[in-house]
Amino acid sequence: MADIIQLLPDHVANQIAAGEVVQRPASVVKELLENAIDAGADSIKLIVKDAGKTLVQVIDNGKGMSHTDARLSFERHATSKIRNAEDLFQLNTKGFRGEALASIAAIAHVELKTKQVDDEVGNAIVIEGSEVASHDIVVTPTGTSVSVKNLFFNIPARRNFLKSDTVELRHVIDEFHRVALAHPNIAFAMYNNGSESFNLPASNYRQRIVNIFGTKTNEKLVPVEEDTEVIKISGFVGKPEFAKKTRGEQYFFVNNRFIKSAYLNHAISSAFEGLLKPGTHASYFLNLWVDPQTIDINIHPTKTEIKFDDEHTLYAILRSAVKHSLGQFNIAPVLDFDR
Ligand code: ADP
Ligand code: MG
Repeated sequence: MADIIQLLPDHVANQIAAGEVVQRPASVVKELLENAIDAGADSIKLIVKDAGKTLVQVIDNGKGMSHTDARLSFERHATSKIRNAEDLFQLNTKGFRGEALASIAAIAHVELKTKQVDDEVGNAIVIEGSEVASHDIVVTPTGTSVSVKNLFFNIPARRNFLKSDTVELRHVIDEFHRVALAHPNIAFAMYNNGSESFNLPASNYRQRIVNIFGTKTNEKLVPVEEDTEVIKISGFVGKPEFAKKTRGEQYFFVNNRFIKSAYLNHAISSAFEGLLKPGTHASYFLNLWVDPQTIDINIHPTKTEIKFDDEHTLYAILRSAVKHSLGQFNIAPVLDFDR
């Protein structure tokens, strides 16, 4: 019998990978914002049109790319962030898979402009359906601008499954908030259909939360701080009287990366036990820092779930830190460690 197995062409492999990484415009927003942060930018702009369906553009003032790197950045598994498997356990960057730009370029029209600080001129590359349509030398500011146009232009089924602009914009803003909250020291701005939605100057964590969620938030925040061998915690929980019916404002960041964890969420709700009206949920904005060697963030392409070596200990420390804070602010009537 003849052999029948073939390696898939790159553009097909990229399109398949895109299926995992890019669900909607907000996924593009996340990947581009994270690349801007990894590039060391201290000012980042997000521009969207039609909730990102027509355009998602991120402009940063980071380190930019060389002529060759600009082209290579669209290759699959091409990354400057890790070199070997060991690096996976010492990650200091958001990215490491080298898949985002290749995936996005397989399902959208992409324009990249980039310049490094010591160069007079930069590079502009246009990619359409994984093919380089043009590569020119251009005058452009230091840093990088990536424009992603007409998402899913070549996958009509995907494009038709996108929700209304209102819903997609909600996802885009959620993603923008997560990244902006994880990096209060970076200035962010967001524009939607030509008008400014957010303008967040570089500041501290409390101020960043207030700038995003409004001045009234300030009085709702109770600081939480804890520093142990295994975990450092810093951030805020919302006072119980401000708890909401929706789960909206619940943020965990592990080593500056937004994560979802039902288990750690339970640690918080259990710290709030007896303080919340039934059916309401506490707000929290908590940064957790752990040794990168003790977590695995490679379990899902979008990296919002991570695996901790010792979840149970983290749970206990987190719960008691939150209880302690609520107690200090005379919010909890009886605390078990006071007995
Ligand atoms: P990853 O972020 O996992 O490395 P990406 O496909 O997102 O993979 O990006 C590929 C490479 O392109 C990055 O490793 C980086 O070297 C370069 N790159 C992407 N975006 C930027 C940017 N905004 N500024 C500088 N370099 C970038
Ligand atoms: Mg990336």
